[in-house]
Amino acid sequence: MAPLIAVDAGHGGRDLGARHCDAQGQMDYHESTVTLELARLVRDVLVQRGFRVLMVRDGDYLLNDFEEDTNGDGVVDTADDLQARIDLVNAEGADLLLSIHLNAFFFASGADASDVGGIITYYCAERSFSDDNHRFAQCVHEALLTTFREELGHAIDDRGVEVDTALGGHLYLLGPETERITRASAMPGVLSEPLFLTHRREGELARDPVALQTLATAYADAVEAYFAGAPEDTRSMP
Ligand SMILES: [Zn+2]
Repeated sequence: MAPLIAVDAGHGGRDLGARHCDAQGQMDYHESTVTLELARLVRDVLVQRGFRVLMVRDGDYLLNDFEEDTNGDGVVDTADDLQARIDLVNAEGADLLLSIHLNAFFFASGADASDVGGIITYYCAERSFSDDNHRFAQCVHEALLTTFREELGHAIDDRGVEVDTALGGHLYLLGPETERITRASAMPGVLSEPLFLTHRREGELARDPVALQTLATAYADAVEAYFAGAPEDTRSMP
């Protein structure tokens, strides 16, 4: 059977994620709608290529909208939505997890941050399948970097393939079980931040359907490259 790829569009519902503001300082678009649009395009390309796809969300909603204490830590917060996402991909038996987010940057002074951009790909180095995490992260990073530079004509800053603890604790979707992460994801995965919404050019690309389609193809290429590089006994290209 073809591998099942879980595609996770970051945020959703009342959790808008990163915001982009127009020249008047009004929010004109935000992360959760762009990640969903991009995730749907990734799904379409993967399905065309014979993969099975699990959309972690396929609409403008959270999996756990501040309703249940999914992770049982006594607090109802965004971690419960992330736990619900993990529970779904684990229950469906996904073989690979691709979580798509977008970055943003604001100077505390309110100064123009539209020159701050770049691509970064996170993976967890503290799992039993960390080698696969790292390999998939490299596939994603290389495919997107090349696409930005060669197909989209944007000399994007390469912020590299980074461990998921680079900003502090483990990223909930990728990390091992900890005091904070009650049930960990059971398959290799990455969290991709392909661009900064607040960067002048990258903010434009995020709203350009042709650019998003090009990026979606790069993600699918990365998934294919990951499975093509898997050891003989676990390889199952569609
Ligand atoms: Zn995000």
